[in-house]
Amino acid sequence: MVTSYHSTRNKGIQAGAREAVLTGIASDGGLFVRPDLGTEKADLDRILNQSYQENAAYILGLLLPDYTEEELKQAVAAAYTGTFADEAITPLKPVGDLHVLELFHGPTSAFKDVALTMLPQLMSIALQDTEDSAMILTATSGDTGKAALSGFRDVNRTGIAVFYPEGKVSQIQYRQMATQQGSNVKVFAVRGNFDDAQSAVKQLFLDEDLGQWAAGQNIRLSSANSINVGRLVPQVVYYFEAWKQLVNQGVIGRDDKVSFSVPTGNFGDVLAGYYAYRLGLPVKKFVVASNANNVLTEFITTGVYDRNRPFVKTISPSMDILISSNLERLLYYMTDGNTEQVAAWMQELAETGRYEVTPEVLERIRSLFE
Ligand SMILES: *Cc1c(COP(=O)(O)O)cnc(C)c1O
Repeated sequence: MVTSYHSTRNKGIQAGAREAVLTGIASDGGLFVRPDLGTEKADLDRILNQSYQENAAYILGLLLPDYTEEELKQAVAAAYTGTFADEAITPLKPVGDLHVLELFHGPTSAFKDVALTMLPQLMSIALQDTEDSAMILTATSGDTGKAALSGFRDVNRTGIAVFYPEGKVSQIQYRQMATQQGSNVKVFAVRGNFDDAQSAVKQLFLDEDLGQWAAGQNIRLSSANSINVGRLVPQVVYYFEAWKQLVNQGVIGRDDKVSFSVPTGNFGDVLAGYYAYRLGLPVKKFVVASNANNVLTEFITTGVYDRNRPFVKTISPSMDILISSNLERLLYYMTDGNTEQVAAWMQELAETGRYEVTPEVLERIRSLFE
C-alpha cells in the first residue's frame, strides 16, 4: 500500500487510495487529501488527443496511485460503456458567448452519474484486497441518492442505504429513489434538512458501537458522498474534457485560460475543478455559484463562514446546503497543509457554527475563486 492520503485534520491518519475509497472519511472526521497533489502534472497534449475514457483512466491514475493501469481501464470501461446517452460522455455546447458542459447524459440524468458510475467500480476493486463487503451510507439533497442507488445496484459485495430530508427533495427525485430496483438498496426519509441528514450520516461513521458491530460482520461502512475521494476524482476528468473540446473546436488556443462557473452545494464539483488546476489545467477563475443559501458567497467575500442563518428551501435543492463539506479540503490546500489550523476551524464550526480564516488565506482563495 502506498500511503498517499492523510486526513485534513491530522497528518498521522494515513491511508492508501484504495483504503481511502473504502473508508470514505478519516477516523477523526477529517477528509482524505493528498499532500503532493499536482506534483506530477497531467500531459495536456496527450489529453487533447485522447477519448473521454482514455483521459479518465489517465487522470485517475495520477490521483489514485495504488490502482493499476489495468484496473483503472477496466473500471472506466464498466462505468462509461453504454451508460451515457452521448458518446462524448460530457459534450460541450455553445450558448451565446459561453459554453455549457452537458453533464446530464448519464443513467439518472444527474451530473453525479459521472462519478457515481465510477465509484462502485473503484470500491469493488479495493474490496478484492479484503474479505469484506461494503455498506454505503449516503445523505442526499436529491440527486446523489438516485445516482448512487443506480450505480451500486446489485454491485457485488456492496449494499447501499440513502437518507434524504423528508419533503425537501423534488417529486421527481423522490419517485426516482422510492422506485429504485435492486437487491441491495434501501431508502430512508429523515426529519430535518440535508445538513441534518449529512451530519447524522457522518456521526454513524464515527459511532464506535456501530463500527465494532460492522467489523464483526466483515462489513465496511463507507460513503458515496463527495467526502469520498473515489467520488471526487472522476469529476476532475470533465474539466480537462471541457478544455479539450474548447481547444479542439478552435474556440481557444492551447494555453488560453478558462473560467468555470459551477453551481455549488457541498463544494465537491468545484473542488474537482481545483484538482484539475493543480494537475496543470489552464484555469483563470472558478465562479462558485450559490442560491439563496449563500454561505459560500459570504465566505469568499468576507472570510467568515457562518452557518447560523435560516435554511432556505429553494427550487435547486442540491444547492440547499449550509455545511459545505469539501471546503475543508480547499482550506487544507490554502493553508499549505496546516492540519492543526484546519482541525481548529472545523471544531469551531461544529461548536459555534462559525469560523473565520486569516486575511492571507482569504486572499489566496480569492485569487482563484469568486
Ligand atoms: C449535487 C448538485 C449540485 C452541488 O454540487 P456539489 O458538488 O455538492 O457542490 C449542484 N447542482 C446539482 C443539480 C446537483 O445535483
